[in-house]
Amino acid sequence: MEDYQFESKAIRAQMERTPYGEHSAPIFPTSGFVFDSAEHARDLFAGEIDGNIYSRYSNPNTDEFIQKMCLLEKMEAGFPTATGMAAMFGSIAAFVSSGDHIVASRSVFGSTHQIFTQLLPRWGVTTTYVDINDPESWEAAIQPNTKMFFGETPSNPGLDIMNLKHMGELCKANGVLMNIDNCFATSYLQTPKDFGADIVTHSATKFIDGQGRVLGGAILTSEELIEKVMFLCRHTGPALSPFHAWILSKSLETLHVRMERHCESAFALAEYLNQHPKVGWVKYPFLENHPMQVIAKEQMKYGGGLVTFELKSGADEVFTMLNKLKMLKISANLGDTRTIVTHPASTTHSKLSPEERASVGITDGLVRVSVGLENIQDIIKDVEQAIG
Ligand SMILES: *Cc1c(COP(=O)(O)O)cnc(C)c1O
Repeated sequence: MEDYQFESKAIRAQMERTPYGEHSAPIFPTSGFVFDSAEHARDLFAGEIDGNIYSRYSNPNTDEFIQKMCLLEKMEAGFPTATGMAAMFGSIAAFVSSGDHIVASRSVFGSTHQIFTQLLPRWGVTTTYVDINDPESWEAAIQPNTKMFFGETPSNPGLDIMNLKHMGELCKANGVLMNIDNCFATSYLQTPKDFGADIVTHSATKFIDGQGRVLGGAILTSEELIEKVMFLCRHTGPALSPFHAWILSKSLETLHVRMERHCESAFALAEYLNQHPKVGWVKYPFLENHPMQVIAKEQMKYGGGLVTFELKSGADEVFTMLNKLKMLKISANLGDTRTIVTHPASTTHSKLSPEERASVGITDGLVRVSVGLENIQDIIKDVEQAIG
């Protein structure tokens, strides 16, 4: 399997088939498993042999999904979670104790921000935010008790790009764990392991499912570090359901085809908006005017499926424009076959203070578009009539 290219791995990595000889994976919705004998049960519980015990620990469907994720992300081991946030929290909580310190990019997902600023301080873990666009500042933030560097690239919703190579070197030199939320790029566009990531986290809810159906997540790491993740997750219970794992594993089979179209259409929309007289600015990682375009092209295969922009009239007409959309829907999800338009300042990032929003570039007029798989001319036409 290791010799195959991404597409073949995504399709051909699979669990063993049952005696029925099914071509597609079966589903195993069972909470527990039967042991061959009392000795078998004893040996499984002692960790002396591999096998399924209980679906909070493992299940054939969640195993297939996580093994495929590991293969695609070039990571050794992983734990599948019920949501992306369970993966974010688990990947952090597994490695920090009271008195530890984290350096994180200020541009992180809204709920991840709540973990850093509201939850972890209750257990004595502090976080210093750094500017994703100012790699020089990262080194200065490292303290003797720094355990982890957490980053998200491209970031949500700013579409800022973190220089993964620089971050990897910094983490290695300082003995700090590098944890990357790879949700926006997916392993098809970028594999943080190439730059030294110790932990890669995912919200599988987004492009991995890709069809707006289920929630899921993944924590991917090394054989050595997985012990701590397993301990935390097996005992605190963020397990992914077998049915959702089955859906997500199937979804991975088409990830590469979907991502290519998402990226192609997002680029086309970005170029359209970029020349529109009523648009103030457009941000897209592969667009000429993106401040980190060179880095983005070095570490990503394509520019991703999201575009952000603001009208010249700023926040004044943003609701009017959103309400005029016909085919495109206003929603908070992303990475769906359906194009989704979001106003982060009033929804996903409304819990941040105006100062916090300003510091990560979320203006009151910023619109985030998750470009779907509909015909791109229809998408542009709808945006065009809404801008008016
Ligand atoms: C959505 C998202 C998450 C959280 O994932 P859920 O599956 O909704 O829990 C984390 N990080 C990023 C970048 C996201 O977009």
